[in-house]
Amino acid sequence: MGKLFDLEAEGYFYTRLQNPTNDYVAAKIAEMEGGTAAMLTSSGQAANFMALFNICECGSHIVASASIYGGTFNLISVTMAKMGVEVTFLSPDCSDDELDAAFKENTRAVFGESIANPALTVFDIERFAKAAHAHGVPLIVDNTFPTPVNCNPIKWGADIVTHSTTKYMDGHVAAVGGAIVDSGNFDWMAHADKFPGLCTPDESYHGIIYAEKFGQAGAFITKCTSQLMRDFGCIQSPQNAFLLNLGLESLHVRMPKHVENGLAVAEFLEQHPKVKKVNYPGLKSDPYYERLKKYMPNGGCGVVSFEIEGGRKGAEEFMKKLKLAAIETHVADARTCCLNPATSTHRQMTEEQLLEAGIPAGLVRISCGLEDKRDLIADLEQALG
Ligand SMILES: *Cc1c(COP(=O)(O)O)cnc(C)c1O
Repeated sequence: MGKLFDLEAEGYFYTRLQNPTNDYVAAKIAEMEGGTAAMLTSSGQAANFMALFNICECGSHIVASASIYGGTFNLISVTMAKMGVEVTFLSPDCSDDELDAAFKENTRAVFGESIANPALTVFDIERFAKAAHAHGVPLIVDNTFPTPVNCNPIKWGADIVTHSTTKYMDGHVAAVGGAIVDSGNFDWMAHADKFPGLCTPDESYHGIIYAEKFGQAGAFITKCTSQLMRDFGCIQSPQNAFLLNLGLESLHVRMPKHVENGLAVAEFLEQHPKVKKVNYPGLKSDPYYERLKKYMPNGGCGVVSFEIEGGRKGAEEFMKKLKLAAIETHVADARTCCLNPATSTHRQMTEEQLLEAGIPAGLVRISCGLEDKRDLIADLEQALG
């Protein structure tokens, strides 16, 4: 027992810190991403928070893409701000000068989403990785939407990869969860002044220096587990990890089908007279098409968004008529689901505020499931009228 507490021996002694089911599933995700170590968290929110907080503290600064999931945007801009962590948000399409100028003395991480939820912008991973490394900090990429089946951020220079496993990885709305993967590529000791948590003794763990004792391959996840998981306790329940593992077993079969359905639906919508605009990086007309081809040659995901004629009312009427697609806030599931942000998640905003946020009132997000694409298109066709 003493050896386990001193991190001198490996073994299981308390589920909040480690348990065999979670370790089995985390190791599988690490391998899929090409990383050296991984851990599971209770949700995607917990994964992003812990990945950032493992290297940031009061007085640190983060450079983040502005095109990210709303929950992560709030986490960084509101809640982490209260902890004294500052952020600079940048357009994922900013100029090199703007990117360079965003870094400060106290910058500790760069953050972006490989395919952003819900904007569906594609992140230029290689470019942001180079900028991060030039400033001596790691790049963290949330790879939830494409999953490691379609995108491997580590291959393009990302140092840490995070997931909301709640989405495609689970794939059946069975369990909320998250994951953090370390590439093992970032040399913490070479930037020891920036990362005292990894490179100086942890007094709460008998003076262990994580980067020394566990090396580049293990330091990040060991510290995150033995310090942050110990203290915050947002562990994934082993039962949820078991369910997640069932989802992972079929992920490589499901993702190509989601992409096939997403593309078929996007192509159908693009030529429909009642549709003003379609966002889907797999479409040749999409501004992110070339970038998608580079990072995700087999396609990204099955989520499509489009603007319907008639604004809020047009979207409401269209969605009422849907028979197959369910109206849900959830996304990236085996079953097709859709959402009109203006009448749901962004309901409190005025028309002007919606436009400012880049969310037209008639925008509909449709997450294409695993049904036959002809059924999906037939449902959309009858609902568009
Ligand atoms: C859903 C989502 C999250 C948050 O994950 P939860 O499991 O809901 O906490 C984070 N990032 C992205 C890209 C997401 O889609």
